[in-house]
Amino acid sequence: MKVFWVPKLPVSNLLEEGREIVNLILLGPPGAGKGTQAEKIASFFSLTHISTGELFRQEVSKKTSLGMQAKGFMDRGELVPDEIVLAMIQSVISESQNGFLLDGFPRNVEQAKALGTMLGSQNLRIDHVLSLEVPEDVIVERMVSRGRSDDHPDTIKNRLSVYREQTQPVKEFYAEQGLVHEVNGSQKVDTVFDSICQLLPKGGVQ
Ligand code: ADP
Repeated sequence: MKVFWVPKLPVSNLLEEGREIVNLILLGPPGAGKGTQAEKIASFFSLTHISTGELFRQEVSKKTSLGMQAKGFMDRGELVPDEIVLAMIQSVISESQNGFLLDGFPRNVEQAKALGTMLGSQNLRIDHVLSLEVPEDVIVERMVSRGRSDDHPDTIKNRLSVYREQTQPVKEFYAEQGLVHEVNGSQKVDTVFDSICQLLPKGGVQ
């Protein structure tokens, strides 16, 4: 049986009348604070948080064959090939019982199209795309101080150019469908979260 999306707090402004499951995408450059906001959003709205980067890091630390395949690409700041990412996403989404929040996926237009097909076949869809906007100088500063293993200067530079070339068009792809909401990600963590809560429009996507 499907467990429907039950908000912990009244968030009737998030959904169109009669829709019980909400699926969100959080977009933004590396270092924009997606992980932090994703956790807050997922917990507040009772969504399954799906972070492809986090899933890959877990696979790498467990030294699974998926992890071994992904590691080289991650260390170089490149995208892991689509077929690997899509297989992983397919299994997580089909297990997800409530609405979900995608963080770090889709990262190129091919992934976005494949996601659409995958969801369509399960009678699901994306309701809103939140785009965290942070200037590049702020991003670089944040990543350097975070110090994750793929956060050294050459990799950061590569990840930013991959973002500009491959992920930025994903925002345009969803903007054409009227799904994108821009959020100023340079503000304090709680202020960013408040802006997100206010942005999700009354009555769903118009
Ligand atoms: P960030 O957003 O800070 O770059 P993530 O944790 O989202 O970090 O991703 C880390 C790395 O994992 C990426 O640089 C990439 O190699 C890989 N990765 C994550 N998600 C995807 C995806 N959707 N497609 C391809 N590679 C991905």
